[in-house]
Amino acid sequence: MAVEIALSEVASEVFELRLPIPFEDGMVNVFLFRDGDEADLLDCGMNSEESLDAIQAALAELGARKLRSLVVTHIHPDHYGAAGVLAGEGRADLYMHRLEVPLVHPRYVELEHLVEQVRTYLLVNGVPADEAEVLSNSQRALSQVVTPADPAVQLDGAELLQLGRRRLRVEWTPGHSPGHICLHDGEAGLLFAGDHILPELSPNIGLHPQSTPNPLADYLEGLHRMARLEPSQVLPAHGRPFSDAQSRVEALVRHHQRRLDQIEEIVGAEEKSAWQVALETWGPRHMLYEKRLALQEGLAHLQALAVEGRVIKTVTPSTVRWRKL
Ligand SMILES: [Zn+2]
Ligand SMILES: [Zn+2]
Repeated sequence: MAVEIALSEVASEVFELRLPIPFEDGMVNVFLFRDGDEADLLDCGMNSEESLDAIQAALAELGARKLRSLVVTHIHPDHYGAAGVLAGEGRADLYMHRLEVPLVHPRYVELEHLVEQVRTYLLVNGVPADEAEVLSNSQRALSQVVTPADPAVQLDGAELLQLGRRRLRVEWTPGHSPGHICLHDGEAGLLFAGDHILPELSPNIGLHPQSTPNPLADYLEGLHRMARLEPSQVLPAHGRPFSDAQSRVEALVRHHQRRLDQIEEIVGAEEKSAWQVALETWGPRHMLYEKRLALQEGLAHLQALAVEGRVIKTVTPSTVRWRKL
């Protein structure tokens, strides 16, 4: 039976393929770059039969008999999940930023240490013990949809890669994930933005045991840097392509600035945990998973405020607390 696929040419010999995922807006966009009867792939969707069938059908439709390389923007399940199937055991060359490499094993292979580390992180940040237990275990479900592969090349950023017949520069854009990358085709004015710049959503920027120490500052710096490239088209991993990178970046920056001001107010003169701050900022969340994202996002803002000297952060082995200067 033929598989129905959502495949469209977004630039000459560059094809967007939309793959199903069970979260965000239900789709992740990956990109195929054709070069004769070979192709390169940017991001690969989750490790599910439906998603992998769509990739194989797209390759066949494009007449690509061999997948040469797989580049991933970051190691979240919707971008890296099928890496082991497509690029494992030398099937294709996997390229990823070197700060993503050490995240893979603790997250998807041997989870026990990270589960414990996350549980401690939740507790010191004020999460009640029963909720911390459930939340620290939620990582296990994600590991089901990921088959890891070892990279053939670890990127630092600023490399020029050949994908299809194009040359794209690696732009390291930490924040959403420590080794998140965008790819820039300067000649054609195309920016493949991964989860860094999305048209509808503000990507989750979280402080957690595997993040960079000040992810929000990293993220905002990367946004400005990408806007300065003045791409004529942004090709995001979720949502539809768009042209006005500058205004989207401005909107995202404004969103975070407002959030920083709001959280600075909420912190107040009395010491609070990040959990209290997150609940006051976003209200009582219905799903625990959303609560965890809110906690991480709240912490990223609190940390940025502390680094700027706008709030005071105090730590002991059992608590992390925040108050207004
Ligand atoms: Zn992501
Ligand atoms: Zn994503």
